[in-house]
Amino acid sequence: MAEVASESGGEVSVSWNAAEVRAEFPQLGLKVNGVRPVYLDSAATTLKPRAVIDRLQHFYSYECANVHRGAHWLSDRATSAYEEARQKVARFLGAERDSEIVFTRGTTEGLNLIAHSFGRPFLQPGDEILLTQLEHHSNILPWQLLAQEKGLKLKVAPIHPSGELVEEEFEALLTNQTKLVSFTHVSNGLGTILPIQKMIQSAQKVGAVTVVDAAQSVSFLPLRVRDLGCDFLVFSGHKLFGPYGVGALYGRHQWLEQMPPYQSGGSMISKVSFAKSDFLPPPQRFEAGTPHIAGAIGLGAAIDFVQALGLEAIESHEQRLLTMATEELKQMGGVRLFADLDHKASILSFLMEGTHPSDVGAMLDQQAVAVRAGHHCNQPLWDFYQVPGTVRASFSLYNDEEDVERWIVALKKAKEMLL
Ligand code: PMP
Repeated sequence: MAEVASESGGEVSVSWNAAEVRAEFPQLGLKVNGVRPVYLDSAATTLKPRAVIDRLQHFYSYECANVHRGAHWLSDRATSAYEEARQKVARFLGAERDSEIVFTRGTTEGLNLIAHSFGRPFLQPGDEILLTQLEHHSNILPWQLLAQEKGLKLKVAPIHPSGELVEEEFEALLTNQTKLVSFTHVSNGLGTILPIQKMIQSAQKVGAVTVVDAAQSVSFLPLRVRDLGCDFLVFSGHKLFGPYGVGALYGRHQWLEQMPPYQSGGSMISKVSFAKSDFLPPPQRFEAGTPHIAGAIGLGAAIDFVQALGLEAIESHEQRLLTMATEELKQMGGVRLFADLDHKASILSFLMEGTHPSDVGAMLDQQAVAVRAGHHCNQPLWDFYQVPGTVRASFSLYNDEEDVERWIVALKKAKEMLL
């Protein structure tokens, strides 16, 4: 039994049965090189629980039809399931209206949609966009391309060597020219949790629009967009135990209704003629063509799955593993650990003295321990530390103490072999 704080601040008792949670994930039942695999790459993508896999199968077996255009019962069924999934996302994020949720291909597409449909029409030459040193490439490149196209200025808020944002610098970089501020909630490279509530409030003071990249936080931190006050928030289904190729964008109604389409085609128009066409209101305006219907419905099932476990219980389980893994890693010695912070996500980025990250990754792989080695789509972050990348182990709700032990044993063996 684990004691975790309830949302109201009191103590509630939540049982965490690691074996039961693991049993929900068929992939964990595999044998790799004859042994139980250890999956420590959830920051790249999470495994999928049976509930999500079954939901996809159910859709393709019994509800398979196109949405929003059917003159038949099967299409009605698919449309209801699809719109119900939108409602689940809206409630999960605390949006005011379901229509503030647009289904996308994932975080990357969400950010590109904002750059295209908000950035192009609403930003003017000379305007500034503020990012942080921690951003994933997908929260840099759409803004860089937009800046080149429109003559905008990109600014980057620095971090401390600890991996934390230099908050005073972030504040100082916000000026009356800053029109958009886009930042990650949790760094995928380091696990740092950014003070997004404060950052949003500061950005609002200069009248800037705020975009939150919740790709890494959505699986363990509660996100309430109305309390946060952000204008946009994006995440990917596949990092929330959901299907690939689907994600969601939250956009404040006031913006979405003014924004032009991102892509165009079927399902997003009210009238088309060769002379002129009219578009549907959001969210349909931003969902051209046949959407990833099964994906959206599967994402709804993933949300049900995490809500049944409880985000607080998930976070406290992951924190226990993080504490144990950090201590063991330090005890091993000869390790440079990045962002060794008291409060962070369950991501450990490190280098083993005298070894290359990809050699360590390969040695762990031989022992059926899956980690990520490389730049993790964070090249500017590693430029700051003047290293090409790291080994990254990320712990999720289906990991347990045995995984931590196996990882440490595998690291010790890698060290022996490589040094
Ligand atoms: N932002 C962050 C912080 C991420 O971790 C990732 C995925 N690694 C992305 C954006 C991009 O997500 P996707 O590839 O699912 O679009």
